Amino acid sequence: MIRIYADLHVHLGQALGRPVKIPAARTLTLPAVLEHCRRRKGLGMVGIVDAATSGGLEELRRLLRGGELRALEGGGFRYEEAVTLIAGAEVETADEGCRSHWLGFFGRLQALEGFAARLWRVVSNPQFSTPRAAWRARDFVEAVTETGGLALPAHAFTPHRGVYGSCADRLAALLPPPALARVAAIELGLSADSEMADHLSELRRLSFLSNSDAHSLDKIAREHNLFELGEPSFDELARALRAEGGRRVAANFGLDPRLGKYHRTACNRCGEVAAAPPPVRRCPGCGSADVTKGVRDRLAEIADASPGPSGRAPYVHQLPLEYLPGIGRKTRERLYGAFGSELAILHQAPAEELRRAVGGKVAEVIILARQGRLAVIPGGGGVYGRVEYALSTGHRID
Ligand SMILES: [Zn+2]
Ligand SMILES: [Zn+2]
Repeated sequence: MIRIYADLHVHLGQALGRPVKIPAARTLTLPAVLEHCRRRKGLGMVGIVDAATSGGLEELRRLLRGGELRALEGGGFRYEEAVTLIAGAEVETADEGCRSHWLGFFGRLQALEGFAARLWRVVSNPQFSTPRAAWRARDFVEAVTETGGLALPAHAFTPHRGVYGSCADRLAALLPPPALARVAAIELGLSADSEMADHLSELRRLSFLSNSDAHSLDKIAREHNLFELGEPSFDELARALRAEGGRRVAANFGLDPRLGKYHRTACNRCGEVAAAPPPVRRCPGCGSADVTKGVRDRLAEIADASPGPSGRAPYVHQLPLEYLPGIGRKTRERLYGAFGSELAILHQAPAEELRRAVGGKVAEVIILARQGRLAVIPGGGGVYGRVEYALSTGHRID
C-alpha cells in the first residue's frame, strides 16, 4: 500500500488561451497546476473540476497526445511519474427552489467525454466552470455514475450552493434510494470538519473529502487528503472511498473550520459575526434577520446524532503558510527553496532548520501553527477567519 496526498477540487482559470472560470487566476492552467502540485505542494494526486469544460477537455486531449500525460490502466492520467490527474466536473443542479454544487470524477477519457456530451446538452455554455445544468441532483448522480464516474456533493455545508447549506436537511430528501446509494463521498468544504459532519447520521457510512476548491495556484492543497492506495490510480481512489480491501482515506487535512468564510452566522446589514453558541439566526449586533447562516449554525439546526467513537480518519487542522501572520510571498519562496514543498514545511521541517532558513520569529509562527496554538478569529458571511499573531490563550508572542 502506498500513501499519497491528494487535493481533488482545483479549478482552471484558462485553457488553451481562453478563460474557463472567470473568477479564477489566469495562471491556473492545466500544465501549471500539474507542475505546481509536483514541485511546490508535494501532492501525488490532483482532481481538476473543470475537465468537462470544452477548453479543459481539449487541453487534456492535447497533453495526452503530446505525451505529457499518460493514461493509466487503472484510470487517471500520470504526469512526470509524480502526480496523477483525476478528471472531474463541478456542476450546479436545480431542485425545487434550490441549487447545489456537485462533483463528478472520471477515470478514463472516454468516460469523461461521454459525461461531457450529456452535460453540454443541458448547459448554456460548455466553456464555463461550474455550469448551471437543467438537471436535478438525482439526474447529475445518474449521469455521472452511468458513465462510470464517482458523484458527490461539493462543499456540502456552505450556504453558497452547499447541498445541506442551501437545499435540504437530508440527502435522502433530495435523492431517491438508488441515487443516494450511489453517492461516493462527501466534500466537507472549508468551514466544516469531520467532527461537525458526523452530527448527521446519514453521513456515517460515507468517506469524507477535504479539498481546497482552489481558484489560484497558492490555494491548492490548503485542504487535502491522505489516501492509502494500492497504486495512484482512479480505480484505487474509488476503492479507498468505499474503504475496500484496506484502501482508505487515512487522514483529512483541512483549515481550522473557524477560518472558513461561512463558519458562523454573519449579518448582511452590519457585518457582525456571531460568537454565541450555535444556532444563531439573528444578528447579535443589530437584531436584523437578514443574515448569512454559518455552517456551524446550520449543522446545529439539522444535527440528528452525536459523534461517538468511529473508524473515521483523523481530521488534522492545519494553517497554510498563506494564512500565517508575517509570512509574505518572499518568505514563502525562501521556505520552498529550503524545504521543497508546503507540506514538508507545515508538517515536517524541524524547528532548528526553520530557524536557520528564515529566522526565529517566522520559525516560531510555523511551529505554533503546527501545534494548533495560534489564536483564530472565526469567519462568516463570506469573510475568511484570521490567524492572529498571539497564542490561543491570549498571550502575545512578541
Ligand atoms: Zn462550488
Ligand atoms: Zn469549486
